[in-house]
Amino acid sequence: MAKTLETINIGIFGHIDHGKTTLLKQLSGKWASTHSEELKRGITIKLGYADTVIYNDKGKYNIDKKGEPIRHVSFIDSPGHEMLMATTLSGAALIDAAILVVAANEGIKPQTREHLMTLKAKKIKNIIVAQNKIDLVTKEQAIKNHDELKKFLGEEYKDAEIIPISAQQNANVDEILKKITELPIPDRKPNETPIFTIARSFDINKPGTKPEDLHGTVLGGTLKQGKLKIGDKIEIKPGRPTPDKKYVPIKTKIKSLFKGSQKVEELTPGGSMSIETSLDMSLGKSDSLGGNLVSLEGKLPEPETKVKIKHTLFPEVFGLAEHQKIESIKKGETLMLSINTTTTGGSVMQASDKEISLNLKIPAVLFKGDNVGIARSIAGHWRLIGYGEII
Ligand code: GDP
Ligand code: MG
Repeated sequence: MAKTLETINIGIFGHIDHGKTTLLKQLSGKWASTHSEELKRGITIKLGYADTVIYNDKGKYNIDKKGEPIRHVSFIDSPGHEMLMATTLSGAALIDAAILVVAANEGIKPQTREHLMTLKAKKIKNIIVAQNKIDLVTKEQAIKNHDELKKFLGEEYKDAEIIPISAQQNANVDEILKKITELPIPDRKPNETPIFTIARSFDINKPGTKPEDLHGTVLGGTLKQGKLKIGDKIEIKPGRPTPDKKYVPIKTKIKSLFKGSQKVEELTPGGSMSIETSLDMSLGKSDSLGGNLVSLEGKLPEPETKVKIKHTLFPEVFGLAEHQKIESIKKGETLMLSINTTTTGGSVMQASDKEISLNLKIPAVLFKGDNVGIARSIAGHWRLIGYGEII
């Protein structure tokens, strides 16, 4: 039944301790521990995501299978405490919409700003603001915080809903479920050339598995467009670095497919997914293939090391306690670019107020119009300074 439902990918963002993980638990219910099959379990744990179906029981939105199933949701939690800019950016490459969690008692913090800017840079248009820990504030404080949030969201996110909740007490969380069912589903382009962005790659075998029972490397990520099915001959690009720093594409075959933790015959866009390949499991160890793209053999363009970007800079650095203006981009400096799930350094060859050209340290498969997050090292940390589009 859930298979025919449309799936939306939602990322959960917000300052540390504002309640992201607590909210995710309420939104998705218990971890999928009922799946006994080893492969499924391995995948679910490794990817750190949760899948759920939202039901509508005569206006009561729930995840308890009551009423009509409305929408399948794939949540991606932000990893742990000290979140790296690169991780946040590549996470944002997988999602269709986001929930920004802000604790009402603490208000807007540096990471709240930084995350909103990340969403803006990654062109995530639809966000829901969870005004959390409402149980800890007075009515007056809640209203004040709401007004601050409204101002903070600005023109760009003026339609974003601000929902007061207590994630811990599961109060008003159903309102968030309702809003999720109202988010627009992007055009999935199921009939175009498949493009799967790899966020993670891993070996799911337990030590001591017999050679004949070994699983191949598993690729976790999302299919941006097109379809992939079991048995397809695929190509991973840019692929694997050789000792002389050239990249060779990896060719392999699809052995099994998962949407969330469900085994499927075919992948279509929408949701968190994984591909079991017939590659030796050592190849994908510790996310070594993260940032690559997958398509049918011969379908992806050649990776490039030169890129030209039309860019916009933010007025100030976010994520810092103090205000700091962002200087324009200069020829010769090194920036970090986030393109799809790839992160690569690049040295600026040319720069104007509108456009920059860079030489990339690691080649990337580029598509015109793809959006790019631009980061600069400021006092030893990569900070998002703007965004752009490949031209
Ligand atoms: P994260 O770092 O954003 O993932 O935050 P967590 O979900 O780990 O929550 C941080 C702390 O805040 C935990 O101790 C939670 O129990 C607590 N917390 C989360 N939501 C609420 C809430 O709505 N009210 C109160 N009082 N505490 C909450
Ligand atoms: Mg957390």
